[in-house]
Amino acid sequence: MSEQGPHRVVVVGGGFGGLQAVQKLRRAPVEVTLVDRRNFHLFQPLTYQVATGALSPGEISYPLRAIFKRNRNVRVLMAEVADFDLDRRELLLRSVYGVPAQPTLGYDTLIVSGGSHYSYFGHEDWREHAAEVKSLESALVVRSRLLSAFEAAEQEPDPKVRAAWLTFVVVGAGPTGVEMAGQIGELARDTLRRDFRTIDPRTARILLVEAGERVLTTFPPSLSTKAERSLERLGVTVLTHAMVIGIDDEGVTIDDGSGNPERIPSRTVVWAAGVTASSLAGRLGELTGSEVDRAGRVTVEPDLTLPGHPEVFALGDMVRVRDTSGEPVVLPGVAPVAMQQGRYAAKTVRARLGSRPTSPFHYFDKGNLATIGRAAGVADIKGLKLSGFIAWMTWLFVHIWYLVGFQNRVLVIIRWSISFATHGRGARLITESGAERPSSASERAGKGEGHADRQQPPGVDPSMRQ
Ligand SMILES: Cc1cc2nc3c(=O)[nH]c(=O)nc-3n(C[C@H](O)[C@H](O)[C@H](O)COP(=O)(O)OP(=O)(O)OC[C@H]3O[C@@H](n4cnc5c(N)ncnc54)[C@H](O)[C@@H]3O)c2cc1C
Repeated sequence: MSEQGPHRVVVVGGGFGGLQAVQKLRRAPVEVTLVDRRNFHLFQPLTYQVATGALSPGEISYPLRAIFKRNRNVRVLMAEVADFDLDRRELLLRSVYGVPAQPTLGYDTLIVSGGSHYSYFGHEDWREHAAEVKSLESALVVRSRLLSAFEAAEQEPDPKVRAAWLTFVVVGAGPTGVEMAGQIGELARDTLRRDFRTIDPRTARILLVEAGERVLTTFPPSLSTKAERSLERLGVTVLTHAMVIGIDDEGVTIDDGSGNPERIPSRTVVWAAGVTASSLAGRLGELTGSEVDRAGRVTVEPDLTLPGHPEVFALGDMVRVRDTSGEPVVLPGVAPVAMQQGRYAAKTVRARLGSRPTSPFHYFDKGNLATIGRAAGVADIKGLKLSGFIAWMTWLFVHIWYLVGFQNRVLVIIRWSISFATHGRGARLITESGAERPSSASERAGKGEGHADRQQPPGVDPSMRQ
């Protein structure tokens, strides 16, 4: 308890875990401060729909202040957490977007849910060529790149260069990669099919590249097979056992183990492989001596606290949890884990304040869902394996249910209904976000087949992250 007043709880991160923690504390006798470097909560499971023009950014995000406007004990601070002083029980803050931040923020209890970001397996140079869809900013870059590739192909006289513009490579066949490839397939085969005069968007090549033996490795093999078939129906070619060994401005190089790396000319690559925990996890590990695994996750105790610091909780994508026998367990990096942990941390804070006993965190696994374009999906719900339309409906219901904000739910239902009826996508905008696409080597060398003054379509900003 703070000497001056009510117990101060600081929550870092207004994502899935942090938001739940604050929601469960807003009626407790505590003073809550939510710190995030963004002023909005982002519903990450639908960012790929923004990347493909199916939804607009505002429909999958919600201002954090608006969520808590009626809760007088909740304060929202837009700032980046730069470091922790666990002895003084203070956070060190940094300003974002030029918004001045107070240098420090004191707490009695700290809950950290900083999430994760895509890692490029040590090839940071790939990031500039292969944008990802975890952040809203990056999803907008992908949207611009996808749509501008069709625009560029429409004006390209050289068939080889045109083919490269119409080749889309998605790296990583987890749920995001599968959903992304399916959406690009739908965009090319369905939405855009009548929009161009020189090219036929249906001839676009969409490749889903996966180093493992099948798509959706977290699902049972029978559902992976069904997902693969649905992808093929959408014109997606799945390349399994294929390791990406190079990405540059003119394409992707893959190694399928045959000893002959294959070069795929492509101007649009989307990255959906490999996730690393927020750097806040590593810092907490350093400060407390707690183990950090290869994916950067810090190991927390069964009650989600850091060793020797019962007042500091860490949760969500950035942690692995010790079970009651002391073994570290990696839970799936999905929203329900973070949400349940956020609620658990809040409940533990409340129990402690009321001097009630607490029990270790236990994850209740409700199942696994993925969608593959229009009216197709797969679901594994407690051993019940669903596919096709019913899995897709389940996916729709769950995503609408968890979307933050009543208005967003209504808007998304309307949007999806219109898109379903018209096969359209209302947010197919090429915007300036992401700035210029890096020019290819041949263009730099002036080999533009007489089109040296051709304008480059908008593209990616190299400094994107989570
Ligand atoms: C493209 C994509 C699709 C996904 N689809 C699904 C799905 O369909 N179903 C599912 O269950 N899960 C899905 N996930 C996973 C799910 O989004 C994550 O598991 C979940 O967001 C983890 O919650 P979290 O609270 O740990 O982190 P996040 O929700 O990522 O929240 C972290 C928050 O911390 C803030 N933050 C980070 N560092 C700092 C700092 N230093 N200072 C201040 N603020 C900071 C960030 O701005 C962010 O708001 C998907 C993820 C991605 C990327």
